[in-house]
Amino acid sequence: MNPLPEDWVCGYVADMPELKIPRRGLMLVLSSPSGAGKTTIARALLGRDSGIAMSVSCTTRPKRPEEKEGRDYHFIDETAFDRQAREGAFLEHAKIFGNRYGTPKVAVENALKAGRDLLFDIDWQGNRALKKLVGDDLVSVFILPPSMETLDHRLRARAQDAEDVVRKRMARAEDEISHWDEFDYLIVNENLEESVEAVHAILKAERLRRTRQTDLPDFVCRSRKS
Ligand code: 5GP
Repeated sequence: MNPLPEDWVCGYVADMPELKIPRRGLMLVLSSPSGAGKTTIARALLGRDSGIAMSVSCTTRPKRPEEKEGRDYHFIDETAFDRQAREGAFLEHAKIFGNRYGTPKVAVENALKAGRDLLFDIDWQGNRALKKLVGDDLVSVFILPPSMETLDHRLRARAQDAEDVVRKRMARAEDEISHWDEFDYLIVNENLEESVEAVHAILKAERLRRTRQTDLPDFVCRSRKS
């Protein structure tokens, strides 16, 4: 069942605020194997489109040096995670690399209520679970590295994880990639700027989808009379 109300409205059709056609909010999922560039693409997209905000997940994974509490994740322990999961505080949650990750429900509802679309950096399990919950309110994009060699290179260059973690992530990448056909769009991240532009184009086009524009019948009716 879609937890978002039937008549959910999130601001107006982007780039045409003067028309004031209300539309439903959009949940944009970015998924990829670790190291394919998804986090960089997500940050760049947030920087160039003020109409979309990041959904900040909870995780039991230790914080990396460059990460900030509340910006990258809410870092919590197993006990707190368990309690929140039991209380139904997550829209979905999954175990990845032995750590737990969950999408906070209230934060998502609040952001959509405030008139913003939402961006999710989650894995295929999260994408599958959210799709089941919200159906067409969700649009998913899978980011592929140009090759497995490039991925291995990027993970090592990043050097923020121990060697055995890098190896595990490479092994997991194969599994992650095997779910490519569960996503609406697929981008091979060869050139960062082009990939960001492609994700932005998807977001802009999806905002204009007829079925998201809740007042369209009235608008068309009014404009035909005037
Ligand atoms: P990392 O530990 O590198 O930040 O993330 C590991 C994986 O967990 C990534 O594929 C990321 O997209 C995924 N992830 C992050 N937050 C969530 C979440 O709330 N739910 C799910 N299902 N996956 C998540």
